Amino acid sequence: MRIKDKKRFIVACGGLAIILILSISVLTLGFWNRNETQSELTNQKNSQASTAQTTNTKTEADPATSTQTVETQQPVQTETKNTAVVNGTGTDSITTLVNKNHSITASYIPSDLVTVDLPSTRDTQLRSVAADGLTKLFKAAEESGLELYCCSGYRSYETQSELYAWNVDTYGVDGAELVSARPGMSEHQLGLAMDVTSASVGFDLLESFGATPEGQFIKDNAHKYGFIIRYPQGKTDITGYAYEPWHLRYLGVDVATAIYNSGKTMEEYYGTN
Ligand SMILES: [Zn+2]
Repeated sequence: MRIKDKKRFIVACGGLAIILILSISVLTLGFWNRNETQSELTNQKNSQASTAQTTNTKTEADPATSTQTVETQQPVQTETKNTAVVNGTGTDSITTLVNKNHSITASYIPSDLVTVDLPSTRDTQLRSVAADGLTKLFKAAEESGLELYCCSGYRSYETQSELYAWNVDTYGVDGAELVSARPGMSEHQLGLAMDVTSASVGFDLLESFGATPEGQFIKDNAHKYGFIIRYPQGKTDITGYAYEPWHLRYLGVDVATAIYNSGKTMEEYYGTN
């Protein structure tokens, strides 16, 4: 081999060596990158798994949190119950709230009124479901040796207007507001309220009725037959009415019992005013 050829051979060999080294480098880098990507993927997977775990943990914790929320935020519960309360228009729901803030229309007349077939100071009506409950309450009282009398059940919008006007004439507006509802704001128009009395108070509607055996009996037992004492003692600032131990409101056994057990007024129970 000539010197010139020898030089060319060396250059060629050097070139091949460089190409070989470069190829190995590229392959090695490729392998590394692949490993790194895989490792990243694995990491990602792990991280996703741990996120999922976190999510699971959160989900598991959520029921407890939501239970706590329900427990601490009674209004959430009462909101649900509130759906049964219809305001502003006449309604046949037995849990309709009627008070100084929630009125019913002048034209509302319950379709299922019946004349109450019980001892009464006058003929009076109730919705049939309330009349059935009252019959059971009176029977239970009788079994305890007590005689209750109906005094005033359903009142039409017109009757309520006259009654309110009479109370305003007699007691002035402020006095009338405490003892009498404006027309459209009386539960008596729902056919679900009954004023009861007894011989011990001369068949009148007096605060002292609350202390009589009859008054005590309905206070302790009315809920079992679907009624509550709607305007309890010491709750005037909430109900807007003076204590009326004689005024029974029918709500059905479940709601009446729940309200009785809670010691709340209907407004407090539904979280409204
Ligand atoms: Zn009444």
